[in-house]
Amino acid sequence: GFATLPDLIRAHARERGSSTAIADPQGSIDYATLDRTMDRVAAALQRDGIAAGQAIAIVAAPSTSYLSVFLGAVRAGCVATPIAPSAIPSAIAAMIADSGAPIVVLDEPMAQALADERVTARILLLSDADLPPEGPSGDAELLEHWLAPDGARPTPVAIAPGDAFNIIYSSGTTGTPKGIVQSHAMRWAHIARNSAAGFDTAVTMIATPLYSNTTLVSVLPTLGWGGSVVLMGKFDARGYLTLAERYRATHTMLVPVQYQRIMALPDFDAFDLSAFRFKTSTSAPFSAALKADVVARWPGLLVEFYGMTEGGASCALNATAHPTKLHSVGQPMPGHEIRLIDDDGVEVPPGEMGEVVGRSPAMMNGYHGRSAATRDAEWHDAEGNRYIRHGDVGRFDEDGFLILMDRKKDLIISGGFNIYPSDLEAVLGQHPDVADCAVIGMPSESWGETPVAVIVPRSPEANPADILAWTNAQLGKTQRLSGIHPTSELPRSAIGKVLKRELRDRLTGTPA
Ligand code: ATP
Ligand code: MG
Repeated sequence: GFATLPDLIRAHARERGSSTAIADPQGSIDYATLDRTMDRVAAALQRDGIAAGQAIAIVAAPSTSYLSVFLGAVRAGCVATPIAPSAIPSAIAAMIADSGAPIVVLDEPMAQALADERVTARILLLSDADLPPEGPSGDAELLEHWLAPDGARPTPVAIAPGDAFNIIYSSGTTGTPKGIVQSHAMRWAHIARNSAAGFDTAVTMIATPLYSNTTLVSVLPTLGWGGSVVLMGKFDARGYLTLAERYRATHTMLVPVQYQRIMALPDFDAFDLSAFRFKTSTSAPFSAALKADVVARWPGLLVEFYGMTEGGASCALNATAHPTKLHSVGQPMPGHEIRLIDDDGVEVPPGEMGEVVGRSPAMMNGYHGRSAATRDAEWHDAEGNRYIRHGDVGRFDEDGFLILMDRKKDLIISGGFNIYPSDLEAVLGQHPDVADCAVIGMPSESWGETPVAVIVPRSPEANPADILAWTNAQLGKTQRLSGIHPTSELPRSAIGKVLKRELRDRLTGTPA
């Protein structure tokens, strides 16, 4: 039959029940405990008549209980629906309602934050610390009281590969959050593709939120293969290294801005990171210089993934093995197929730039309750095969490595010329006074749009006018920046993506 991730966890509980499954800042649980808690969650859902296929929402900081509820819901055939606690309360309430979840699990700060919102689901609290006097938690119950008794066994549920495993809401970097439905088969593909990654003996350090696919593609394979997950909670570079050293971490998934902060620590080389074997990154552009620095100074392989929550296709770059390809995101993974198309949906000639479309064994079922949006996200080849549009623009080099440019929505069209912000960001990033930068298109009367840079200067002495002149001297005539704005920090999402929409809003009304 078809073994689900909860089935794999059951097997680990039998074979290595006392080995650590998940650790968080409060403590850790072994595989036997994880498996028993998942049973208690699944049995409670069945007791309450919650049918397979229904969403169970979770809005909380990462913890062992969070993952136990998530996986227990999946064991009952329900659809785990982790939601970003960092979203604004009204948006969180809207996502809970959109998912149709009859139950939402909240931690204490989240219960406080949602006090003034209408929450459509029954509320379960992860802890009883200082219950707020009013608000939705007034009639909330404690998860601990709701769980079926220890030793309870849920009725086994028949699960098919195409059944929904979880819903992840898109981050909304480019629009309203949509619920991306991921199947058991898709999760299985993520586990299977890591068969050579040594996750069976892994200690995987996680410092990103659990509602993000970026995190789950590392957490779920670790548990699928029987390794240990260490959840660090709120990230800071020195805290991360201290914890990694203490746990003798072997695997990790970090987003580029986290690598950047860690490598910038003056005493980085003083930490003992010799246990590391496999480091990954995904979700945002990772500069070649930073990849080279990580490869040179941090033990273990560095592999960058490019992909999206919706699936489509993923690329992988083994940065350690391909020092001359660090400007790329690597090659499509086995069984993954990428094509590049133009504005009319026609494939571009080899070597040319186009929008990425992809297909693989790991594709979303669709957007929850949004068939029109799902259709818009698809592309079909001549044989009628279904691809997912990634919304990114890139080109393949002569060796088949994908060089990613920008999100299609971020391209700047100025006086009829296409400007790729990433080209300009690459030049700016080489200036010694620029610590971080982003280029966006601003409305212009003469050109339609014009490129403007927002930079984080390395020191207060940095002179924007000099940086502008230096940069423009290296750019083609049609690419030149019309302004540079210094700022103390670029706005980023909780998983480190630069929020260009927010930057644009910030600059509106500011003369370039
Ligand atoms: P939304 O769809 O709501 O705007 P999102 O696209 O940021 O959110 P994700 O599915 O998490 O949500 O991110 C996928 C996108 O992240 C890709 O389309 C690409 O733009 C970017 N991305 C992922 N991996 C990489 C990478 N290795 N290098 C550069 N960009 C990447
Ligand atoms: Mg997207």
